[in-house]
Amino acid sequence: MRLIDTHAHLSDLEDREDVVSRAKETGIGAIVAVGANLETNKATITWSEAFPEYVYPALGIHPTEWTQDNVPITLQYIEEQIDRITAVAEIGLDYWYRDARKNKDVRERQRQIYVDQLQFAKEHDKPVSVHGRGSWRDALDLAVQHGPENVVFHWYSGSLEILAEILDRGYLISATPAAEYSRNHRAALAEAPLECIMMETDSPVYLRNRRRPSEPSDLVITLRALAKLKEASEHEVARVTTENAKNFFRLSADSIEYIKRR
Ligand SMILES: [Zn+2]
Repeated sequence: MRLIDTHAHLSDLEDREDVVSRAKETGIGAIVAVGANLETNKATITWSEAFPEYVYPALGIHPTEWTQDNVPITLQYIEEQIDRITAVAEIGLDYWYRDARKNKDVRERQRQIYVDQLQFAKEHDKPVSVHGRGSWRDALDLAVQHGPENVVFHWYSGSLEILAEILDRGYLISATPAAEYSRNHRAALAEAPLECIMMETDSPVYLRNRRRPSEPSDLVITLRALAKLKEASEHEVARVTTENAKNFFRLSADSIEYIKRR
């Protein structure tokens, strides 16, 4: 079985060697590691240097992770690393975030930073992984106006109407371990064709049903839940979603090949 974790915050995990060896034992052939601010972007690069051809770095500024003074410095850092990064991520909007809920200036600033990164990704022909909690409409519209061709709406949990537009545009959505329990997320995953879905863990997001933080080897939770939802075999879901991820992130086939057979 060949799996790709397309969105993990490895910078927030410890015990690097153990995390990666458990991921490999689970059949994970590649991890796209996402950054969120200057510090985690730098740590993401360090992870990718420690595990070349296995951890693929994606750098970005997350909508809840910026402060006024670090944005230009972080954008400059991302630009310096452009040739080695696989994608621009994690970027997007979050209108449920406490400060954004209360303050329209915060939401406006989120949009500016998001648009800057969409344009940057388009200019450099990099895929983007988009966070859109409470803001899927704007996240989609701005991606259409300013973004690159390859856009994935990570952990999509918006309406089925917006989902239809996402799929019409040829964009993807990603499934997380919340595919086990989240009503809106499950509805979207049931609706979207498997050819439009990638899998991820969003590690170390807390696994509600297991009462612990996640790591990439928990991608099997996503796999099992998605296979159930799609009434398909785990093998088939793994095959299609891995193919989707390879194409979306343009990962070379060689790097995924050595994966342990089960
Ligand atoms: Zn994330």
